[in-house]
Amino acid sequence: MSLLTLENVTLKFGGVTAVNNLSMSVNEGEVFALVGPNGAGKSTVFNMISRFYRPFNGKITFDGQNLLDRRPNEVASLGIARTFQNIELFDHATVLQNLLVGRHRHRKTTLVEEILFMGRTRSEERKHRLAVEEVIEFLDLQAYRDKMIMGLPYGVRKVVELARALATKPRLLLLDEPASGLSVEETQDMRWWIDDIRRQMGITVVMVEHDMGLVSKVCDRVLALADGAKLAEGTPTEVQSHPAVIEAYLGT
Ligand code: ADP
Ligand code: MG
Repeated sequence: MSLLTLENVTLKFGGVTAVNNLSMSVNEGEVFALVGPNGAGKSTVFNMISRFYRPFNGKITFDGQNLLDRRPNEVASLGIARTFQNIELFDHATVLQNLLVGRHRHRKTTLVEEILFMGRTRSEERKHRLAVEEVIEFLDLQAYRDKMIMGLPYGVRKVVELARALATKPRLLLLDEPASGLSVEETQDMRWWIDDIRRQMGITVVMVEHDMGLVSKVCDRVLALADGAKLAEGTPTEVQSHPAVIEAYLGT
């Protein structure tokens, strides 16, 4: 069953067509990749799904609901979480505090109260903390739990970014370049985590990634974009051997 659908979606920035009449469909439970050269429109697709940007035309549906009728904060409460190409965490807060903020969508408090740890009942607080602790354990972040983000190595911050998204218990997880800047070993860990996120947590994943080795290992299907338009779609093997994809990457 299709969980996320884009139909003929277009978005322009001035004279630049960032996404051009794109249609795609992601099934519940699959790991789906968006690939393409820099500037192809991949992050813009994520920004439209999370409602940061509104497409000029076309339709985006999540679990049968029209996402374009929703405000960005409502999109999160429907169960869509994302990570950012450039890590977006509170540098002067601890790992735990960043994850507690990530649980915001399940709370009745405001973001400011959230940060100040106010306005909650004890049992509510306990439930949220347990969910966050679960994610910390799942991603092996125990050693960093009470450490400030600012002093953490890049590779660890990348995992915290993933943890922040997971702590919201999403149905759909959008990962923007989860392996960029990671070492070979860290990329390998990321691979197992994405596998486990799908298998153990049952979360559907859409990822943007340049590392085709990683894409081939974790993804069921791949869509290749260039200049905002779909070049090819299929299994990782099919897409990698597609002539239009090879041409786009070689820039000929
Ligand atoms: P990718 O993630 O595939 O590298 P992006 O989606 O970030 O590509 O960008 C696609 C195109 O849209 C690029 O030409 C980029 O410069 C342009 N673009 C993206 N966001 C904006 C923006 N906020 N304002 C103007 N142009 C943008
Ligand atoms: Mg991008």
